[in-house]
Amino acid sequence: MTATINHHPSDEVLLSYSAGGLAEAFNLMIATHVSLCDECRARVDAFDTLGGVLLDNGDVETADVGADALAKTLAMIKDGDPTPSMRKKSIPGVLPQPLQDYVGGDLEAIKWRSVGMGVKQAILPTSKEASARLLYIPAGAAMPDHGHRGLEMTMVLQGAFLDDGERFGRGDVETADCELEHTPIADFGEDCICLAVTDAPLKFNSLIPRLAQPFLRI
Ligand code: ZN
Ligand code: ZN
Repeated sequence: MTATINHHPSDEVLLSYSAGGLAEAFNLMIATHVSLCDECRARVDAFDTLGGVLLDNGDVETADVGADALAKTLAMIKDGDPTPSMRKKSIPGVLPQPLQDYVGGDLEAIKWRSVGMGVKQAILPTSKEASARLLYIPAGAAMPDHGHRGLEMTMVLQGAFLDDGERFGRGDVETADCELEHTPIADFGEDCICLAVTDAPLKFNSLIPRLAQPFLRI
């Protein structure tokens, strides 16, 4: 059941999460990833500790303390942090606990809306700075090819998708920004369910999704 997670959010994002600086939708993304990923949970715990150290040191030259403390804290993770994490590990089910809290249950509680071509989505209620949605992509189906105006993070909950020669399975996070245009394809074998979070509307290259965009709020 515990699959290996190969694609993680950046330390920069984990650090903002620890500091409470992420928009609600991205906060949900990281809380969900951290509930599945032992490695990132340890890193976030270390960043929490680091935040405490920085606050305790108050007006001491913060930059020096910061670099030093960061190195020490990261070294501590490598040696294996002896203190058990206070952050929740995931419970059984397709949706990890942080998502179940939004949806009000596991898969059966999701109110899917068809987006066409067998693809379905469910928009989650979050604050407006960024949007979060669950996506259901039938095995072997492609998402419309698109670019990004802002940051997009996609995490797999069930099945897998392939993008640009890489495979993303349960717990893996793909981060895309303005540089990247892509066409993720759901792997054969199992329908793919993902959590996708964006802070700006996507740019579609073909006409149909572009016309549908205002109605689908993607
Ligand atoms: Zn991770
Ligand atoms: Zn994308």
